[in-house]
Amino acid sequence: MKSKIEADNSVSYQLRMLEGEDEILEPLNQYLGKKIQIEFQDQINCIGCGRKSNKSFNQGYCFPCLQNLAECDTCIIKPELCHFDMGTCRDNEFAEAHCNIPHSIYLSLTSGMKIGVTRQMQEQTRWVDQGAVAAIRVMTTRRRHHAGLIEVELAKDMADKTNWRRMLKNEVDERNLNTEKGIILSKVKCLIESARIEEDLSYILDEAEVLNEESEVQELKYPVLQYPEKIKSFNLDKDPLAEGQLLGIKGQYLIMDTGVINLRKYGGYLVSINLG
Ligand SMILES: [Zn+2]
Repeated sequence: MKSKIEADNSVSYQLRMLEGEDEILEPLNQYLGKKIQIEFQDQINCIGCGRKSNKSFNQGYCFPCLQNLAECDTCIIKPELCHFDMGTCRDNEFAEAHCNIPHSIYLSLTSGMKIGVTRQMQEQTRWVDQGAVAAIRVMTTRRRHHAGLIEVELAKDMADKTNWRRMLKNEVDERNLNTEKGIILSKVKCLIESARIEEDLSYILDEAEVLNEESEVQELKYPVLQYPEKIKSFNLDKDPLAEGQLLGIKGQYLIMDTGVINLRKYGGYLVSINLG
């Protein structure tokens, strides 16, 4: 599922589908209120290498890819563990293209407020994927590793995980992200001064140059007719058919009157889809 933030901060979703041999991008928002049907065809193809696989790991990969691809390494989920400088990266080209480039440390409001790290060029995509209703960039680092080291220190006092059930029910705390950004920045300054962040200090001091970056709160409005009161999720591995009336789309979830489904979870799954 792809997404785009429109000028009025509303999110529009598209679904990548195959029609015969052709890949099409079907706008999804228009199906709100209509019946939809998703049926797993009992075939999984690895999103890394394409081969058939009995089980999907890490949201779409086969077992060999899980063990070998840089994008499946532990340091992707935990950037503070980046081991590029030790010369043990699984794929240096991947690292230069995806890790050793500007990263953002951000605050987002999904249900509670959380802190996170992402490649700067895709921060908006990241916020939509989480189902954040608002987010703000706090600072920029030159590499993923540095962002990870700082995030770990900051996450000691705050959440770095999304509560997806509360996110889907739209139970969102009241927080002013501009104010929170200021609080985080002063913490980072303290961390730098006290050198609590390990790693060559000169690197981190360089980071301080970007502490005064201007940034604005990005608000996000999702196409939702009705939020669920109770969350029941579909599991295509147990029951291949998910159907119902589409009540909304938030994060990577389709919300139906019969339950919710996390489409990201089924990367590599061959499904047939009936819309409207
Ligand atoms: Zn594979």
